[in-house]
Amino acid sequence: MDEIKIDKVIRSHRKTIALVITQDTALVVRAPFFTPLEYIQKLIERKRFWINRKQEEIRKRPIVKPKEFVSGEVFLFLGRSYKLEIVDGLQSDIELRDTLQISRTRLPVAKETLIAWYKERALEKIRERCEWYAKLTGYKPTSIKITGAKRRWGSCGPRGTLNFSWRLIMTPLEVVDYVVVHELVHLEEKSHAKKFWSKVKTILHDYEKRERWLKENKAAVIL
Ligand SMILES: [Zn+2]
Repeated sequence: MDEIKIDKVIRSHRKTIALVITQDTALVVRAPFFTPLEYIQKLIERKRFWINRKQEEIRKRPIVKPKEFVSGEVFLFLGRSYKLEIVDGLQSDIELRDTLQISRTRLPVAKETLIAWYKERALEKIRERCEWYAKLTGYKPTSIKITGAKRRWGSCGPRGTLNFSWRLIMTPLEVVDYVVVHELVHLEEKSHAKKFWSKVKTILHDYEKRERWLKENKAAVIL
């Protein structure tokens, strides 16, 4: 077996060792000041499988560039990819068919137009899914809001309001449902304690898989 290459060791006052795989697949080890290098190497050997898997995951990730709003560019909607098509004389600003059609007149404000459209679709779909799971579970939000949050998929307000990022509408429906259920359960259980996760699991037995999708595809849902 090949020896695993450590790209960097950062020593500090910390008490435990942490392994970090960076975005460019480098292996960085954070360790207490006096940990012998030999000890670190042994630990790395034991974690070989985990390290290889993480590096492989990052290598396989698609490279995501900021959007240019040109014909043929791919946009996500409910987990499916649609090619952008610029159309003359389109009835509305945006229409979703086999392609994502945008009216040529909206091109100078393409980003804003598309975000507004995503927000409307997000509210529609998330409201529908909330109602469905509210019936199933008995947890009912007082209101639902769509936000522009970049890092938080959803949150639960103090008075039973639920907030969701419009970016969620780019993810597959199973993932939308997971975030909806996660926030609905928060109406009952505020913290992420064991009880919280076991409630989520009784509603969505495979929630871990759905949560993993969000972690692994964060970069894909930017605009
Ligand atoms: Zn939560």
